[in-house]
Amino acid sequence: MIYLKLAEFYNEAGSTTKRLEKTRILSDFLKKISEKDKDVLYLMLGDIYPEYDERKIGVSNQIAIKAISKSTGINETKVIHEWKMLGDLGKVAEKLTEKRKQATLHTHLLTTDKVLENLRKLPELEGKGTVGKKLALITELLASASPLEALYLTRTLLADLRIGIKESTVRDSMAEAFFESKKEAKKRVQDAIDKTNDLASVFEIVKTGKLEKLDKLHLEIGKPIKVMLAQKAESIKDGFEKVGKPCAIEYKYDGFRLLIHKDRNKVILFTRRLENVTKQFPEVVNYIKEYVDAGSFILDSEAVGFNKKTKEYKPFQDISQRIRRKYDIEKLQEELPIEINVFDILYYNGKSMLDEPFEKRTAIIKKIIKDHPYKIISSKQIITDDEKKAEKFYRQALKDHQEGVMFKNLKTFYQPGSRVGHMLKLKPEARDLDLVITGGEYGTGKRHGWLSSFILSCRDKKTGKFLEIGKMGTGIKEKATEETTPDISFSELTEKLRPYFLELKGKSIKIKPKIVIAVTYQEIQHSPNYDSGFALRFPRFMALRPDKSPEDASNLDEVKKDFEDQKRNWRYG
Ligand code: ATP
Repeated sequence: MIYLKLAEFYNEAGSTTKRLEKTRILSDFLKKISEKDKDVLYLMLGDIYPEYDERKIGVSNQIAIKAISKSTGINETKVIHEWKMLGDLGKVAEKLTEKRKQATLHTHLLTTDKVLENLRKLPELEGKGTVGKKLALITELLASASPLEALYLTRTLLADLRIGIKESTVRDSMAEAFFESKKEAKKRVQDAIDKTNDLASVFEIVKTGKLEKLDKLHLEIGKPIKVMLAQKAESIKDGFEKVGKPCAIEYKYDGFRLLIHKDRNKVILFTRRLENVTKQFPEVVNYIKEYVDAGSFILDSEAVGFNKKTKEYKPFQDISQRIRRKYDIEKLQEELPIEINVFDILYYNGKSMLDEPFEKRTAIIKKIIKDHPYKIISSKQIITDDEKKAEKFYRQALKDHQEGVMFKNLKTFYQPGSRVGHMLKLKPEARDLDLVITGGEYGTGKRHGWLSSFILSCRDKKTGKFLEIGKMGTGIKEKATEETTPDISFSELTEKLRPYFLELKGKSIKIKPKIVIAVTYQEIQHSPNYDSGFALRFPRFMALRPDKSPEDASNLDEVKKDFEDQKRNWRYG
Protein backbone atom coordinates (compact mmCIF):
# COMPACT_ATOMS: atom_id res chain seq x y z
CA MET A 1 0.00 0.00 0.00
CA ILE A 2 1.20 3.49 -0.78
CA TYR A 3 2.08 5.40 2.37
CA LEU A 4 0.42 8.51 1.00
CA LYS A 5 -2.97 6.77 1.26
CA LEU A 6 -2.37 6.16 4.95
CA ALA A 7 -1.17 9.74 5.47
CA GLU A 8 -4.32 11.04 3.75
CA PHE A 9 -6.43 8.87 6.00
CA TYR A 10 -4.58 10.22 9.07
CA ASN A 11 -5.29 13.71 7.88
CA GLU A 12 -8.98 13.06 7.45
CA ALA A 13 -9.35 11.23 10.76
CA GLY A 14 -7.40 13.91 12.58
CA SER A 15 -9.59 16.67 11.18
CA THR A 16 -12.62 15.73 13.28
CA THR A 17 -13.04 15.33 17.01
CA LYS A 18 -16.42 13.63 16.66
CA ARG A 19 -16.24 9.97 17.61
CA LEU A 20 -18.90 8.77 15.18
CA GLU A 21 -17.33 10.65 12.33
CA LYS A 22 -13.92 9.17 13.12
CA THR A 23 -15.46 5.70 13.21
CA ARG A 24 -17.01 6.24 9.80
CA ILE A 25 -13.76 7.50 8.29
CA LEU A 26 -11.83 4.56 9.70
CA SER A 27 -14.46 2.06 8.67
CA ASP A 28 -14.31 3.35 5.06
CA PHE A 29 -10.56 3.05 5.18
CA LEU A 30 -10.62 -0.49 6.60
CA LYS A 31 -12.86 -1.59 3.74
CA LYS A 32 -10.22 -0.43 1.30
CA ILE A 33 -7.16 -2.11 2.75
CA SER A 34 -6.35 -5.74 2.08
CA GLU A 35 -5.38 -8.37 4.68
CA LYS A 36 -1.88 -8.24 3.34
CA ASP A 37 -1.60 -4.68 4.64
CA LYS A 38 -2.99 -5.55 8.05
CA ASP A 39 0.07 -4.25 9.88
CA VAL A 40 -0.95 -0.67 9.14
CA LEU A 41 -3.31 -1.17 12.06
CA TYR A 42 -0.27 -1.08 14.31
CA LEU A 43 0.87 2.13 12.65
CA MET A 44 -2.51 3.77 13.24
CA LEU A 45 -2.07 3.36 16.96
CA GLY A 46 1.47 4.68 16.78
CA ASP A 47 3.13 1.27 16.99
CA ILE A 48 5.05 -1.12 14.75
CA TYR A 49 3.99 -4.33 16.51
CA PRO A 50 1.07 -5.20 18.78
CA GLU A 51 0.87 -2.85 21.74
CA TYR A 52 2.30 -5.37 24.23
CA ASP A 53 5.42 -5.97 22.16
CA GLU A 54 8.37 -4.28 23.74
CA ARG A 55 9.99 -3.33 20.48
CA LYS A 56 9.07 0.33 20.18
CA ILE A 57 10.27 2.95 17.71
CA GLY A 58 12.10 4.99 20.36
CA VAL A 59 13.32 8.04 18.45
CA SER A 60 14.29 11.24 20.29
CA ASN A 61 13.54 14.79 19.18
CA GLN A 62 17.27 15.23 18.57
CA ILE A 63 17.46 12.41 16.05
CA ALA A 64 14.27 13.58 14.36
CA ILE A 65 15.74 17.08 14.02
CA LYS A 66 18.93 15.68 12.47
CA ALA A 67 16.94 13.50 10.07
CA ILE A 68 14.74 16.40 8.96
CA SER A 69 17.84 18.49 8.43
CA LYS A 70 19.58 15.78 6.41
CA SER A 71 16.60 14.89 4.27
CA THR A 72 15.73 18.48 3.43
CA GLY A 73 19.24 19.91 3.28
CA ILE A 74 18.29 22.63 5.74
CA ASN A 75 20.64 23.14 8.67
CA GLU A 76 19.73 22.00 12.18
CA THR A 77 19.62 25.49 13.66
CA LYS A 78 16.94 26.44 11.16
CA VAL A 79 15.02 23.23 11.91
CA ILE A 80 15.13 24.03 15.64
CA HIS A 81 14.05 27.60 14.93
CA GLU A 82 11.03 26.33 12.96
CA TRP A 83 10.26 23.91 15.77
CA LYS A 84 10.13 26.79 18.23
CA MET A 85 7.74 28.63 15.91
CA LEU A 86 5.46 25.71 15.03
CA GLY A 87 5.72 23.63 18.21
CA ASP A 88 5.44 20.34 16.31
CA LEU A 89 8.33 18.64 14.56
CA GLY A 90 5.83 16.95 12.24
CA LYS A 91 4.70 20.34 10.97
CA VAL A 92 8.33 21.39 10.62
CA ALA A 93 9.07 18.31 8.50
CA GLU A 94 6.00 19.06 6.37
CA LYS A 95 6.96 22.69 5.79
CA LEU A 96 10.61 22.03 5.04
CA THR A 97 9.80 19.09 2.76
CA GLU A 98 7.48 21.39 0.84
CA LYS A 99 10.45 23.72 0.26
CA ARG A 100 12.69 20.86 -0.82
CA LYS A 101 10.03 19.58 -3.19
CA GLN A 102 10.08 22.85 -5.04
CA ALA A 103 13.80 22.44 -5.52
CA THR A 104 13.91 18.79 -6.56
CA LEU A 105 11.27 17.17 -8.67
CA HIS A 106 12.01 13.53 -8.17
CA THR A 107 10.71 11.51 -5.21
CA HIS A 108 10.42 7.75 -4.79
CA LEU A 109 7.06 6.27 -4.05
CA LEU A 110 6.96 5.38 -0.37
CA THR A 111 5.05 2.25 0.65
CA THR A 112 3.77 1.24 4.09
CA ASP A 113 5.87 -1.92 3.78
CA LYS A 114 9.01 0.13 3.34
CA VAL A 115 8.07 2.38 6.27
CA LEU A 116 7.46 -0.63 8.52
CA GLU A 117 10.63 -2.32 7.32
CA ASN A 118 12.80 0.65 8.27
CA LEU A 119 10.97 1.44 11.50
CA ARG A 120 11.22 -2.18 12.63
CA LYS A 121 14.97 -2.10 12.24
CA LEU A 122 15.25 0.75 14.76
CA PRO A 123 14.67 -1.18 18.00
CA GLU A 124 17.05 -3.92 16.85
CA LEU A 125 20.02 -1.54 16.73
CA GLU A 126 22.46 -1.75 19.58
CA GLY A 127 25.94 -0.64 20.56
CA LYS A 128 28.39 1.51 18.68
CA GLY A 129 27.16 3.56 15.77
CA THR A 130 23.50 3.13 16.68
CA VAL A 131 22.66 6.81 16.28
CA GLY A 132 24.20 6.97 12.82
CA LYS A 133 22.38 3.86 11.67
CA LYS A 134 19.07 5.10 13.05
CA LEU A 135 19.58 8.37 11.30
CA ALA A 136 20.25 6.66 7.99
CA LEU A 137 17.09 4.55 8.20
CA ILE A 138 14.91 7.54 9.06
CA THR A 139 16.51 9.87 6.56
CA GLU A 140 15.94 7.32 3.81
CA LEU A 141 12.20 7.47 4.52
CA LEU A 142 11.97 11.22 4.92
CA ALA A 143 13.95 11.81 1.75
CA SER A 144 11.33 10.07 -0.36
CA ALA A 145 8.35 11.51 1.52
CA SER A 146 5.89 14.09 0.29
CA PRO A 147 5.13 16.94 2.73
CA LEU A 148 2.05 15.20 4.13
CA GLU A 149 3.94 11.93 4.48
CA ALA A 150 6.81 13.71 6.20
CA LEU A 151 4.35 15.19 8.69
CA TYR A 152 2.98 11.81 9.73
CA LEU A 153 6.26 9.95 9.47
CA THR A 154 7.83 12.39 11.90
CA ARG A 155 4.91 12.18 14.28
CA THR A 156 5.06 8.39 14.06
CA LEU A 157 8.75 8.46 14.95
CA LEU A 158 8.01 10.58 17.99
CA ALA A 159 5.02 8.44 19.05
CA ASP A 160 2.68 11.41 18.80
CA LEU A 161 0.36 10.83 15.84
CA ARG A 162 -2.41 13.19 17.05
CA ILE A 163 -5.26 11.62 15.08
CA GLY A 164 -7.26 10.38 18.04
CA ILE A 165 -7.66 6.75 16.95
CA LYS A 166 -7.89 4.41 19.91
CA GLU A 167 -8.41 0.68 20.23
CA SER A 168 -12.12 1.29 20.81
CA THR A 169 -12.34 3.30 17.57
CA VAL A 170 -10.79 0.40 15.68
CA ARG A 171 -13.22 -2.05 17.30
CA ASP A 172 -16.26 0.08 16.42
CA SER A 173 -15.01 0.66 12.89
CA MET A 174 -14.44 -3.04 12.29
CA ALA A 175 -18.02 -3.77 13.40
CA GLU A 176 -19.30 -0.92 11.26
CA ALA A 177 -17.36 -1.91 8.16
CA PHE A 178 -17.99 -5.63 7.97
CA PHE A 179 -21.12 -6.66 9.86
CA GLU A 180 -24.88 -6.19 9.85
CA SER A 181 -25.51 -6.72 13.55
CA LYS A 182 -23.19 -4.05 14.85
CA LYS A 183 -23.86 -4.59 18.54
CA GLU A 184 -23.02 -8.26 18.56
CA ALA A 185 -20.07 -7.66 16.27
CA LYS A 186 -18.67 -5.00 18.62
CA LYS A 187 -18.80 -7.40 21.51
CA ARG A 188 -17.25 -10.29 19.62
CA VAL A 189 -14.52 -8.09 18.17
CA GLN A 190 -13.75 -6.70 21.62
CA ASP A 191 -13.55 -10.25 23.03
CA ALA A 192 -11.13 -11.19 20.27
CA ILE A 193 -8.99 -8.12 20.97
CA ASP A 194 -8.94 -8.85 24.71
CA LYS A 195 -7.87 -12.40 24.03
CA THR A 196 -5.10 -11.62 21.55
CA ASN A 197 -4.27 -7.93 22.00
CA ASP A 198 -3.35 -8.01 18.37
CA LEU A 199 -5.46 -5.76 16.14
CA ALA A 200 -3.89 -6.98 12.93
CA SER A 201 -4.75 -10.62 13.51
CA VAL A 202 -8.30 -9.68 14.49
CA PHE A 203 -8.61 -7.53 11.36
CA GLU A 204 -7.46 -10.39 9.16
CA ILE A 205 -10.44 -12.47 10.31
CA VAL A 206 -12.97 -9.67 10.51
CA LYS A 207 -12.23 -8.79 6.90
CA THR A 208 -13.79 -12.14 5.85
CA GLY A 209 -17.13 -10.90 7.22
CA LYS A 210 -17.61 -14.06 9.25
CA LEU A 211 -17.98 -13.32 12.93
CA GLU A 212 -17.89 -16.97 13.99
CA LYS A 213 -14.36 -17.23 12.63
CA LEU A 214 -13.25 -15.01 15.50
CA ASP A 215 -13.76 -17.99 17.81
CA LYS A 216 -10.77 -19.54 16.11
CA LEU A 217 -8.49 -16.97 17.68
CA HIS A 218 -6.72 -18.79 20.42
CA LEU A 219 -4.82 -17.75 23.42
CA GLU A 220 -1.16 -18.05 22.73
CA ILE A 221 1.53 -18.60 25.24
CA GLY A 222 3.78 -15.57 25.23
CA LYS A 223 1.02 -13.19 24.09
CA PRO A 224 -0.43 -11.26 27.02
CA ILE A 225 -4.15 -11.25 27.69
CA LYS A 226 -6.24 -8.55 29.30
CA VAL A 227 -7.30 -9.72 32.74
CA MET A 228 -10.80 -10.18 34.08
CA LEU A 229 -11.77 -7.54 36.66
CA ALA A 230 -14.21 -7.54 39.52
CA GLN A 231 -17.27 -5.52 40.48
CA LYS A 232 -17.98 -4.55 44.07
CA ALA A 233 -19.98 -6.29 46.76
CA GLU A 234 -21.44 -4.12 49.53
CA SER A 235 -21.50 -6.85 52.14
CA ILE A 236 -21.21 -10.59 52.57
CA LYS A 237 -24.94 -10.95 52.04
CA ASP A 238 -24.74 -8.87 48.89
CA GLY A 239 -21.84 -10.99 47.66
CA PHE A 240 -23.81 -14.20 48.00
CA GLU A 241 -26.87 -12.65 46.39
CA LYS A 242 -24.95 -11.46 43.38
CA VAL A 243 -22.80 -14.51 42.61
CA GLY A 244 -25.15 -17.22 43.93
CA LYS A 245 -24.77 -19.89 46.60
CA PRO A 246 -22.59 -21.81 47.11
CA CYS A 247 -19.67 -19.83 45.77
CA ALA A 248 -15.94 -19.66 46.13
CA ILE A 249 -14.57 -17.02 48.47
CA GLU A 250 -10.89 -16.20 48.30
CA TYR A 251 -8.48 -13.82 49.96
CA LYS A 252 -8.18 -10.56 48.08
CA TYR A 253 -4.43 -10.30 48.29
CA ASP A 254 -2.86 -6.87 48.50
CA GLY A 255 -0.19 -7.18 45.86
CA PHE A 256 0.03 -6.90 42.09
CA ARG A 257 -1.41 -9.03 39.35
CA LEU A 258 0.94 -11.38 37.56
CA LEU A 259 0.02 -13.48 34.53
CA ILE A 260 2.31 -16.45 34.23
CA HIS A 261 2.82 -18.14 30.85
CA LYS A 262 4.72 -21.38 30.53
CA ASP A 263 5.53 -23.66 27.64
CA ARG A 264 7.95 -26.48 28.38
CA ASN A 265 10.97 -24.70 29.86
CA LYS A 266 10.03 -21.17 28.94
CA VAL A 267 8.31 -18.95 31.48
CA ILE A 268 7.06 -15.43 30.72
CA LEU A 269 5.52 -13.04 33.25
CA PHE A 270 3.17 -10.18 32.38
CA THR A 271 1.54 -7.45 34.45
CA ARG A 272 -2.09 -6.49 33.97
CA ARG A 273 -0.84 -3.64 31.79
CA LEU A 274 0.62 -6.30 29.47
CA GLU A 275 4.22 -5.47 30.30
CA ASN A 276 6.70 -8.32 30.20
CA VAL A 277 8.36 -8.39 33.65
CA THR A 278 10.04 -11.81 33.47
CA LYS A 279 13.52 -10.38 34.07
CA GLN A 280 12.45 -8.67 37.28
CA PHE A 281 11.30 -11.89 38.93
CA PRO A 282 13.84 -14.69 38.38
CA GLU A 283 12.71 -16.45 41.56
CA VAL A 284 9.15 -16.71 40.23
CA VAL A 285 10.44 -18.36 37.08
CA ASN A 286 12.12 -20.97 39.29
CA TYR A 287 9.04 -21.52 41.47
CA ILE A 288 7.02 -22.17 38.34
CA LYS A 289 9.49 -24.68 37.01
CA GLU A 290 9.84 -26.45 40.34
CA TYR A 291 6.40 -26.40 41.87
CA VAL A 292 3.87 -26.43 39.05
CA ASP A 293 3.30 -29.74 37.46
CA ALA A 294 2.09 -29.20 33.89
CA GLY A 295 3.61 -28.82 30.43
CA SER A 296 2.00 -25.60 29.32
CA PHE A 297 -0.30 -23.11 30.99
CA ILE A 298 -1.29 -19.53 31.63
CA LEU A 299 -1.94 -18.77 35.29
CA ASP A 300 -3.55 -15.68 36.79
CA SER A 301 -2.15 -14.70 40.16
CA GLU A 302 -1.39 -12.00 42.70
CA ALA A 303 2.19 -11.48 43.89
CA VAL A 304 2.31 -10.37 47.53
CA GLY A 305 5.26 -9.10 49.54
CA PHE A 306 6.08 -10.39 52.99
CA ASN A 307 8.46 -9.60 55.77
CA LYS A 308 11.44 -11.92 55.61
CA LYS A 309 11.73 -12.27 59.36
CA THR A 310 8.19 -12.14 60.70
CA LYS A 311 6.63 -13.61 57.55
CA GLU A 312 3.85 -11.04 57.82
CA TYR A 313 2.35 -9.89 54.52
CA LYS A 314 3.26 -6.38 53.45
CA PRO A 315 1.10 -3.78 51.69
CA PHE A 316 1.57 -3.38 47.94
CA GLN A 317 3.33 0.01 48.27
CA ASP A 318 6.23 -1.64 50.08
CA ILE A 319 7.13 -3.89 47.17
CA SER A 320 5.89 -1.95 44.16
CA GLN A 321 9.47 -1.00 43.20
CA ARG A 322 10.12 -4.60 42.22
CA ILE A 323 7.93 -4.22 39.13
CA ARG A 324 10.02 -1.55 37.44
CA ARG A 325 13.55 -1.99 38.79
CA LYS A 326 15.84 -3.38 36.14
CA TYR A 327 19.09 -3.49 38.15
CA ASP A 328 20.16 -5.04 41.47
CA ILE A 329 17.47 -7.63 40.89
CA GLU A 330 19.07 -10.21 43.14
CA LYS A 331 19.47 -7.81 46.02
CA LEU A 332 15.89 -6.64 45.71
CA GLN A 333 14.65 -10.19 45.48
CA GLU A 334 16.43 -10.89 48.76
CA GLU A 335 15.15 -7.73 50.48
CA LEU A 336 11.60 -7.73 49.17
CA PRO A 337 10.54 -11.33 48.77
CA ILE A 338 7.15 -12.13 47.25
CA GLU A 339 4.75 -15.01 47.34
CA ILE A 340 2.69 -15.99 44.31
CA ASN A 341 -0.96 -16.70 45.00
CA VAL A 342 -2.51 -18.41 42.02
CA PHE A 343 -6.25 -17.94 41.60
CA ASP A 344 -7.06 -18.83 38.00
CA ILE A 345 -5.89 -20.80 34.99
CA LEU A 346 -6.64 -19.66 31.44
CA TYR A 347 -4.78 -22.23 29.40
CA TYR A 348 -3.72 -25.73 30.29
CA ASN A 349 -1.73 -28.32 28.37
CA GLY A 350 -2.57 -27.06 24.90
CA LYS A 351 -6.18 -26.01 25.55
CA SER A 352 -7.90 -22.75 26.36
CA MET A 353 -9.66 -22.87 29.73
CA LEU A 354 -11.56 -19.60 29.20
CA ASP A 355 -14.85 -21.34 28.53
CA GLU A 356 -14.54 -23.85 31.35
CA PRO A 357 -16.48 -23.16 34.56
CA PHE A 358 -14.54 -21.65 37.44
CA GLU A 359 -14.96 -24.76 39.61
CA LYS A 360 -13.10 -26.80 37.01
CA ARG A 361 -10.39 -24.20 36.63
CA THR A 362 -9.85 -23.90 40.34
CA ALA A 363 -9.69 -27.70 40.69
CA ILE A 364 -6.93 -27.83 38.09
CA ILE A 365 -4.94 -25.23 40.00
CA LYS A 366 -5.12 -27.30 43.15
CA LYS A 367 -4.06 -30.34 41.21
CA ILE A 368 -1.01 -28.90 39.51
CA ILE A 369 0.41 -26.55 42.17
CA LYS A 370 2.44 -27.98 44.99
CA ASP A 371 1.89 -25.37 47.68
CA HIS A 372 5.10 -23.88 49.02
CA PRO A 373 4.15 -21.04 51.36
CA TYR A 374 6.20 -17.87 50.81
CA LYS A 375 7.01 -19.09 47.33
CA ILE A 376 3.91 -20.17 45.45
CA ILE A 377 0.50 -21.37 46.63
CA SER A 378 -3.00 -21.64 45.27
CA SER A 379 -5.07 -18.79 46.76
CA LYS A 380 -6.70 -19.36 50.09
CA GLN A 381 -10.25 -20.32 49.26
CA ILE A 382 -13.41 -21.68 50.80
CA ILE A 383 -16.46 -22.94 48.96
CA THR A 384 -19.51 -22.22 51.05
CA ASP A 385 -23.09 -21.01 51.26
CA ASP A 386 -22.79 -20.06 54.90
CA GLU A 387 -22.64 -16.37 55.81
CA LYS A 388 -21.01 -17.02 59.18
CA LYS A 389 -18.19 -19.03 57.63
CA ALA A 390 -17.78 -16.33 55.00
CA GLU A 391 -17.55 -13.63 57.66
CA LYS A 392 -14.96 -15.57 59.64
CA PHE A 393 -12.92 -16.02 56.48
CA TYR A 394 -13.20 -12.32 55.69
CA ARG A 395 -11.94 -11.33 59.13
CA GLN A 396 -9.09 -13.77 58.82
CA ALA A 397 -8.11 -12.20 55.49
CA LEU A 398 -7.99 -8.75 57.10
CA LYS A 399 -6.02 -10.09 60.06
CA ASP A 400 -3.56 -11.58 57.61
CA HIS A 401 -3.04 -8.04 56.26
CA GLN A 402 -4.93 -8.66 53.05
CA GLU A 403 -7.42 -6.25 51.50
CA GLY A 404 -10.59 -8.31 51.81
CA VAL A 405 -12.13 -11.18 49.89
CA MET A 406 -13.33 -12.06 46.41
CA PHE A 407 -16.65 -13.81 45.73
CA LYS A 408 -16.62 -16.05 42.67
CA ASN A 409 -19.45 -17.83 40.92
CA LEU A 410 -18.49 -21.46 40.46
CA LYS A 411 -20.07 -21.96 37.06
CA THR A 412 -18.96 -18.96 35.06
CA PHE A 413 -16.29 -18.43 32.42
CA TYR A 414 -13.19 -16.26 32.34
CA GLN A 415 -13.88 -13.07 30.39
CA PRO A 416 -10.63 -11.31 29.48
CA GLY A 417 -10.78 -7.53 29.71
CA SER A 418 -14.21 -7.35 31.37
CA ARG A 419 -15.32 -6.09 34.78
CA VAL A 420 -17.72 -8.91 35.46
CA GLY A 421 -20.63 -9.39 37.86
CA HIS A 422 -19.68 -12.96 38.67
CA MET A 423 -16.46 -12.03 40.44
CA LEU A 424 -16.89 -9.49 43.23
CA LYS A 425 -14.54 -7.80 45.64
CA LEU A 426 -15.41 -6.97 49.21
CA LYS A 427 -13.23 -4.74 51.28
CA PRO A 428 -13.82 -2.53 54.32
CA GLU A 429 -15.41 0.83 53.76
CA ALA A 430 -13.13 3.81 54.06
CA ARG A 431 -13.57 5.80 57.30
CA ASP A 432 -12.14 9.16 58.30
CA LEU A 433 -10.39 11.07 61.05
CA ASP A 434 -8.97 14.56 61.42
CA LEU A 435 -5.29 14.24 62.23
CA VAL A 436 -2.30 16.48 62.78
CA ILE A 437 0.89 16.26 60.71
CA THR A 438 3.83 15.86 63.10
CA GLY A 439 6.56 14.65 60.79
CA GLY A 440 7.58 13.92 57.25
CA GLU A 441 10.09 12.26 55.04
CA TYR A 442 11.79 13.78 52.02
CA GLY A 443 11.11 12.06 48.72
CA THR A 444 13.40 10.99 45.93
CA GLY A 445 13.17 11.08 42.13
CA LYS A 446 10.42 13.37 40.90
CA ARG A 447 9.51 14.18 44.51
CA HIS A 448 13.05 15.22 45.34
CA GLY A 449 13.12 18.33 47.53
CA TRP A 450 9.64 17.82 48.92
CA LEU A 451 8.17 15.77 51.69
CA SER A 452 6.57 12.74 50.14
CA SER A 453 5.22 11.00 53.19
CA PHE A 454 3.72 12.48 56.30
CA ILE A 455 3.48 11.27 59.89
CA LEU A 456 -0.04 11.60 61.26
CA SER A 457 -0.93 11.99 64.90
CA CYS A 458 -4.00 12.10 67.07
CA ARG A 459 -4.25 13.89 70.40
CA ASP A 460 -4.13 12.40 73.83
CA LYS A 461 -6.76 14.37 75.77
CA LYS A 462 -5.24 13.58 79.14
CA THR A 463 -1.70 14.76 78.47
CA GLY A 464 -2.34 17.10 75.55
CA LYS A 465 0.40 15.27 73.62
CA PHE A 466 0.21 14.21 70.00
CA LEU A 467 0.62 10.51 69.38
CA GLU A 468 1.65 9.01 66.06
CA ILE A 469 -0.84 6.78 64.30
CA GLY A 470 0.39 6.30 60.76
CA LYS A 471 2.24 7.45 57.68
CA MET A 472 0.46 8.87 54.65
CA GLY A 473 1.66 9.36 51.08
CA THR A 474 -1.46 8.98 48.94
CA GLY A 475 -4.18 11.36 47.86
CA ILE A 476 -1.76 14.20 47.14
CA LYS A 477 -1.08 15.56 43.66
CA GLU A 478 2.31 15.23 41.99
CA LYS A 479 2.10 18.68 40.43
CA ALA A 480 0.41 21.86 41.54
CA THR A 481 -1.00 22.37 38.03
CA GLU A 482 -3.02 19.15 37.92
CA GLU A 483 -6.71 19.88 38.09
CA THR A 484 -7.90 17.25 40.49
CA THR A 485 -9.26 17.09 43.94
CA PRO A 486 -7.96 17.12 46.62
CA ASP A 487 -6.35 20.31 45.61
CA ILE A 488 -2.89 20.14 47.08
CA SER A 489 0.42 18.93 45.74
CA PHE A 490 3.46 17.55 47.56
CA SER A 491 5.31 20.83 47.06
CA GLU A 492 2.40 22.93 48.32
CA LEU A 493 1.89 20.80 51.41
CA THR A 494 5.63 20.90 52.12
CA GLU A 495 5.60 24.72 51.92
CA LYS A 496 2.61 24.90 54.25
CA LEU A 497 4.48 22.84 56.81
CA ARG A 498 7.89 24.50 56.41
CA PRO A 499 7.35 27.25 59.04
CA TYR A 500 6.81 24.48 61.57
CA PHE A 501 9.85 22.36 60.77
CA LEU A 502 11.70 21.37 63.95
CA GLU A 503 14.60 19.00 63.51
CA LEU A 504 16.02 17.12 60.55
CA LYS A 505 17.54 13.64 60.87
CA GLY A 506 18.59 12.03 57.61
CA LYS A 507 15.52 12.30 55.43
CA SER A 508 13.08 12.62 58.31
CA ILE A 509 11.88 15.84 59.78
CA LYS A 510 9.91 16.50 62.92
CA ILE A 511 7.14 19.04 62.54
CA LYS A 512 5.35 21.14 65.13
CA PRO A 513 1.72 19.98 65.39
CA LYS A 514 -0.08 22.80 63.62
CA ILE A 515 -1.65 21.55 60.41
CA VAL A 516 -4.80 19.44 60.60
CA ILE A 517 -5.97 17.31 57.70
CA ALA A 518 -8.91 15.00 57.04
CA VAL A 519 -7.78 11.47 56.26
CA THR A 520 -9.69 8.38 55.16
CA TYR A 521 -8.50 4.91 55.92
CA GLN A 522 -9.71 1.37 55.61
CA GLU A 523 -8.95 -0.10 58.98
CA ILE A 524 -7.35 0.60 62.34
CA GLN A 525 -4.98 -2.01 63.68
CA HIS A 526 -3.08 -2.39 66.94
CA SER A 527 0.54 -1.51 66.33
CA PRO A 528 3.68 -1.32 68.44
CA ASN A 529 5.28 0.91 65.80
CA TYR A 530 3.46 4.09 66.79
CA ASP A 531 3.18 5.60 70.25
CA SER A 532 -0.63 5.77 70.03
CA GLY A 533 -0.55 1.95 69.93
CA PHE A 534 -2.59 2.00 66.71
CA ALA A 535 -1.87 2.17 62.99
CA LEU A 536 -4.14 3.24 60.15
CA ARG A 537 -4.27 0.99 57.13
CA PHE A 538 -4.33 2.79 53.75
CA PRO A 539 -4.53 6.38 55.06
CA ARG A 540 -5.33 8.80 52.28
CA PHE A 541 -5.31 12.60 52.22
CA MET A 542 -8.78 14.09 51.79
CA ALA A 543 -8.57 17.78 52.65
CA LEU A 544 -6.82 20.44 54.67
CA ARG A 545 -8.83 21.42 57.72
CA PRO A 546 -7.76 25.03 58.22
CA ASP A 547 -10.95 25.42 60.20
CA LYS A 548 -9.61 23.08 62.87
CA SER A 549 -6.91 23.73 65.41
CA PRO A 550 -4.69 20.85 66.54
CA GLU A 551 -6.72 20.74 69.73
CA ASP A 552 -9.81 19.96 67.66
CA ALA A 553 -8.17 16.98 65.96
CA SER A 554 -9.47 13.48 66.63
CA ASN A 555 -8.28 12.25 70.00
CA LEU A 556 -7.07 8.87 71.17
CA ASP A 557 -10.42 8.01 72.75
CA GLU A 558 -12.13 8.51 69.40
CA VAL A 559 -9.53 6.35 67.68
CA LYS A 560 -10.10 3.61 70.28
CA LYS A 561 -13.82 3.89 69.78
CA ASP A 562 -13.48 3.56 66.01
CA PHE A 563 -11.28 0.54 66.54
CA GLU A 564 -13.87 -1.07 68.84
CA ASP A 565 -16.78 -0.16 66.52
CA GLN A 566 -14.98 -1.69 63.64
CA LYS A 567 -14.59 -4.91 65.61
CA ARG A 568 -18.13 -4.90 66.96
CA ASN A 569 -20.06 -3.85 63.90
CA TRP A 570 -17.65 -5.31 61.45
CA ARG A 571 -19.91 -3.75 58.93
CA TYR A 572 -19.13 -6.43 56.45
CA GLY A 573 -21.86 -8.94 57.07
P1 ATP B 1 -8.55 -2.73 43.68
O1 ATP B 1 -7.96 -1.36 43.75
O2 ATP B 1 -9.70 -2.96 44.60
O3 ATP B 1 -7.52 -3.82 43.76
P2 ATP B 1 -8.55 -3.07 40.91
O4 ATP B 1 -9.15 -2.14 39.93
O5 ATP B 1 -7.08 -3.12 41.04
O6 ATP B 1 -9.23 -2.83 42.31
P3 ATP B 1 -10.39 -5.20 40.69
O7 ATP B 1 -10.71 -6.04 39.54
O8 ATP B 1 -11.39 -4.20 41.05
O9 ATP B 1 -8.97 -4.54 40.48
O10 ATP B 1 -10.09 -6.12 41.93
C1 ATP B 1 -9.50 -7.33 41.70
C2 ATP B 1 -8.00 -7.25 41.88
O11 ATP B 1 -7.68 -7.87 43.09
C3 ATP B 1 -7.33 -8.05 40.81
O12 ATP B 1 -6.95 -7.22 39.74
C4 ATP B 1 -6.14 -8.68 41.50
O13 ATP B 1 -4.99 -7.89 41.24
C5 ATP B 1 -6.46 -8.62 42.96
N1 ATP B 1 -6.68 -9.93 43.59
C6 ATP B 1 -6.14 -10.31 44.77
N2 ATP B 1 -6.52 -11.53 45.12
C7 ATP B 1 -7.34 -11.98 44.15
C8 ATP B 1 -8.07 -13.20 43.96
N3 ATP B 1 -8.03 -14.18 44.85
N4 ATP B 1 -8.82 -13.30 42.83
C9 ATP B 1 -8.88 -12.30 41.93
N5 ATP B 1 -8.22 -11.13 42.07
C10 ATP B 1 -7.45 -10.97 43.17
